[in-house]
Amino acid sequence: MASDHDKQRLLRRLPAVDKLLEATGMPPEIPRRVLTAAIRHILDDLRNRIVSDAGDMDEGQLEVQTLAGKALEAARAALAPRLKRTINATGVVVHTNLGRSRLAEKAIEKVVEAARHYSNLEFDLKLGKRGSRYSIVEELLCELSGAEAALVVNNNAGAVLLCLETLARGKEVVISRGELVEIGGSFRIPDVMAKSGALLKEVGTTNRTHPADYRRAIDENTGLLLKAHTSNYAVVGFTSSVSLAELVKIGAECRIPVMEDLGSGSFVDLSRYGLMKEPTVQESVASGADLVTFSGDKLLGGPQAGLIVGRKDLVAMIKANPLARALRIDKMTLAALEATFQLYRDIDTAVRQIPTLAALTSSLPEVEAKALQLARAFEKLGRPDLEIEVTDLDSRAGGGSLPLMAIRSKGVAIRHGAMSVNQIESGLRHARPPVIGRIENDRFIFDARTIGLDEIDLIAAAVDEMLAKNDQPANGQTGLPR
Ligand SMILES: *Cc1c(COP(=O)(O)O)cnc(C)c1O
Repeated sequence: MASDHDKQRLLRRLPAVDKLLEATGMPPEIPRRVLTAAIRHILDDLRNRIVSDAGDMDEGQLEVQTLAGKALEAARAALAPRLKRTINATGVVVHTNLGRSRLAEKAIEKVVEAARHYSNLEFDLKLGKRGSRYSIVEELLCELSGAEAALVVNNNAGAVLLCLETLARGKEVVISRGELVEIGGSFRIPDVMAKSGALLKEVGTTNRTHPADYRRAIDENTGLLLKAHTSNYAVVGFTSSVSLAELVKIGAECRIPVMEDLGSGSFVDLSRYGLMKEPTVQESVASGADLVTFSGDKLLGGPQAGLIVGRKDLVAMIKANPLARALRIDKMTLAALEATFQLYRDIDTAVRQIPTLAALTSSLPEVEAKALQLARAFEKLGRPDLEIEVTDLDSRAGGGSLPLMAIRSKGVAIRHGAMSVNQIESGLRHARPPVIGRIENDRFIFDARTIGLDEIDLIAAAVDEMLAKNDQPANGQTGLPR
């Protein structure tokens, strides 16, 4: 324990804020406010340490130049962006934690243009008066889906909430017990329904629901029949569910609208590309659903958005709901959405140019070529301790789409003589840019399906950086020595 006398002496040695500020040289790229905050933080920290116990404090650490260096380092760290480009080597194509879909180049161009310039966002250039932002994509969305009317909002959770609030507030919504989904990020159909003021009426059992179950549940309080796509799980075994077409028939008989939440809606029948069959938006519309909702950034491969297509009178009611204003989509999203929808006018173009679709549909030889190139880049690092192997893998669509579908893939597995696989994982996560992969059988895996050709050198550099850090283990104490 340091004596009170020692503590007083150390406290007196602490430099004043102004003095430290000057000692940093005040580089112009660091805002003064940030630098001052870093200095105060360091001084507060030291003060607390001295007061609590300074018995073994290395007084060299109180030198003005040392402290100034620390302040500069802390200020630079505070200025580094929090949102960072990250390399997705997980093999999960629509990875919600990694930002779901990357946009097509055409969509990116449109986002930049919308951000940089004024636009006719809500101005009707033909009539010279106020227009609606929704009209920007409504026609295209109708053309692609075959629906009468369309509306776009901030995300699909918002779309579901808005539809339920408009059509079923204070009324009952009938849904199968097999479809009470929870997706990641705590979106649960029952919770959203409660927030909308609609009353949940569950029918059937977890594995089996029959048309008669719906019929029995319908009465004068029923506002909506809801079908939710079981996007991240499947009920298998002794099962039975009511198809959308059957539900539409029941709805028509009882004059109750039918809504389908597709979750990850697609305009492309992915079974054409060897993937599992998922219902397309067009099919749901053609089956007669009165409303269909889906996400913009899952299988569709566009920006975050909630898309609502369906019957004109219902969409008009939804548009008029004040809640629609609260969920409104912004101009950059609209720009990206329109450009993405344009690509869908030719399916082959869409599949080639929309990164999510391109990644899902790229052939095994294409993926293998990337894996081989990545392995070669690792070999070139000249690290005898690094075990490198090209390996067979299974990728996933992710984002609650094609839940059971393993997509055959190729990638590179690494192991290191002196590092655990968890150390490798952590090292790559802290690289610039961070590289996120997965761990399998005590090896670190890079799935080539989700990485771009232009990312191979970056990944190799990240591995190099990680190994170099491991070569010189932390002699550099970053904090104060104790
Ligand atoms: C993903 C999903 C949602 C939520 O969509 P967001 O665009 O993420 O808000 C809702 N319902 C289902 C079935 C989903 O899969």
